[in-house]
Amino acid sequence: MKALVYHGPGQKSWESVGDPKPMDPTDIVVRIDTTTICGTDLHILKGDVPAVTDGRVLGHEAVGTVVEVGSAVSTLAVDDRVIVPAITSCGRCANCKRAMPSHCLATGGIGWIFGHLIDGTQAEYTRVPYAETSVHKVPEGVTDQQVLFLTDILPTGYEVGVRNGGVKPGDVVVVVGTGPVGLAAIQTARLAGAASVIAVDLAAFRLEAARRFGADHVINGNAGDVEAQIAALTTAGHGADVAIEAVGVPQTFDLCTRVVRPGGVVANIGVHGKPTTLHLEELWIKNITITTGLVDGTTVPMLLQLVRSGKVAGELFGTHEFRLHDMMSAYETFANAAETNALKVVIKR
Ligand SMILES: [Zn+2]
Ligand SMILES: [Zn+2]
Repeated sequence: MKALVYHGPGQKSWESVGDPKPMDPTDIVVRIDTTTICGTDLHILKGDVPAVTDGRVLGHEAVGTVVEVGSAVSTLAVDDRVIVPAITSCGRCANCKRAMPSHCLATGGIGWIFGHLIDGTQAEYTRVPYAETSVHKVPEGVTDQQVLFLTDILPTGYEVGVRNGGVKPGDVVVVVGTGPVGLAAIQTARLAGAASVIAVDLAAFRLEAARRFGADHVINGNAGDVEAQIAALTTAGHGADVAIEAVGVPQTFDLCTRVVRPGGVVANIGVHGKPTTLHLEELWIKNITITTGLVDGTTVPMLLQLVRSGKVAGELFGTHEFRLHDMMSAYETFANAAETNALKVVIKR
């Protein structure tokens, strides 16, 4: 089969590799029908994730069709359409039992293994371990593109941003960073009853997208005093109830701690590569809560219901479409989002 193979920092190619087979009785093999590229893949290609070694097939988000099942698999069958999520869950370890498969112990203490510790989904086929406790069957009547983003960005925005942030009816929510995960937080903050959602970004095309995803106010970080503009949109200027960080750099995290009201929550989603100064000399008296997290994907069944009922427009994230064999062009378009205005690419077989 063909797959997108990582060959060290800056090196990748679409090339022939061996066909995957079930290795353990709980495995299945899935034919990839639709997949995508994540910002994390770009981090890997920069060399930021040294656990990814030469020869690894990248990708951790896919919708596909079961083509082979291991001997212990009884609830999935050949020809089933399934969502293959970023997080693998054994369903039996201590962390899976406390609904935290992001740290599944059976997969080495980290649930994200596709395109990281094992071969991933940017390929014609992929082996899926612990299949019965990891994948979700796709119901009739929904398209691949509607459910593709349930694999990672939608549950990430919801679980790590909105749910960890404790967003409740009537809240004013600020989302700093409106890339795909920030947009997912905006979309699902509305569902949680936010009275208003304020989006902050530096790119005009992403702020336009934020409006399509339900932001009530958009603020360009390059234009004027962001803190003052946010304060003006909150009750008595006291700040937002919840500030969601979806960038992963010190300045944006710091901004979140300055625009949240006393007693509010800063929910960090951003992947940080550098330490950030936490201004406890100002924050100690503010009664704020700071949360962090890696997606568990435990809300995928709930989000899937909302996609089915049309309350979550999952397909909105896909801005560009490619075929699997055009994987290299898909990377080109996704990596140059500033010029191509790409949010997520949809890659079909
Ligand atoms: Zn991802
Ligand atoms: Zn587990």
